[in-house]
Amino acid sequence: MGRQTVRRVYSRQLTKVGAIFTADFVDPRTLPGLHRVLEIATARPVKRLGQNFLVAPDQFDRIADAVVKTQPQWVLEIGPGPGGLTCALLERGLQVLAVEIDPTWVNWLTSTLVPRYPTTLRILQQDALIMSWKTLEVGRDRPWTVCGNLPYYITSPLMAKFFEDASSWNAAVLMVQKEVAARLLADPGQRNTSALSVLLRYVATIRGLGEVSRHQFYPSPEVDSFVIQLTRSPSPAIPLEHLRGVVQAAFRHRRKMIRQSLAQVSGPAWNSHEWARILTEEGIDPSKRAEALSWSEWIKLARLAGKK
Ligand code: SAM
Repeated sequence: MGRQTVRRVYSRQLTKVGAIFTADFVDPRTLPGLHRVLEIATARPVKRLGQNFLVAPDQFDRIADAVVKTQPQWVLEIGPGPGGLTCALLERGLQVLAVEIDPTWVNWLTSTLVPRYPTTLRILQQDALIMSWKTLEVGRDRPWTVCGNLPYYITSPLMAKFFEDASSWNAAVLMVQKEVAARLLADPGQRNTSALSVLLRYVATIRGLGEVSRHQFYPSPEVDSFVIQLTRSPSPAIPLEHLRGVVQAAFRHRRKMIRQSLAQVSGPAWNSHEWARILTEEGIDPSKRAEALSWSEWIKLARLAGKK
């Protein structure tokens, strides 16, 4: 082997210089591709970080196409890992800020994918749950979309950011555990609804984009996944705090009648008899339970909470 060839071969192999990799980017969207990346990066999926990597090019396409349809000026990707979804987004000409907690993947993407997309990709090593969307430097004033194949353990706290950190996000395309998606998609008044799904409706409409089998991940998790889309919608003319107060009170004791659960948080002035009278006057059955309340009933309750 001539000297030139040897140099070329070595430059194509990954070497770790401290924590920095020097290697060509390897596409992780198929199982052989992902295995190669794991081998070169000497990495193993970390269970505690929910590292079940998607290995299904058509699913990456489906998510990225859905993101494009939301017409974002830039995209916040949560948990890029080895970069499969990141690639699909970049190939569609999108500008991406990717937030990853695991330094291995931050270094990998910074060394291998950023050089390919120096003007459209930024990688940030950060815990997406701690990061405040209010302090994002890039174009908060331009419509942006959140996307990601979310690790299961961060799904609920991250979803709370959509109404708590409600800056200028425009839409979200997220892959979540199928059972969680079912709860989020359940409209208020349907069995299976949750406090989170009611509160999300304060800022967005939610729809399902379809299922993703557990067999399309490596390693394969114990549950299937589902892609959901949130589209920002105008909030009702009530403070979020009032809605949150009644929703959390009612779901904290979801087996109790609402006149009882609301009495527990409203103080001595409004006991359960008083609530029964007020609710009846408002046309709400006081013996209903949280999951049976419709969206318009939640709005009425939030207005009442504002008066007490
Ligand atoms: N996007 C890749 C894909 O679709 O194959 C990886 C998805 S994997 C399910 C979840 C990713 O989120 C992992 O790379 C993991 O390290 C990262 N992650 C886990 N917790 C995080 C957190 N709190 N903040 C940011 N990233 C996190």
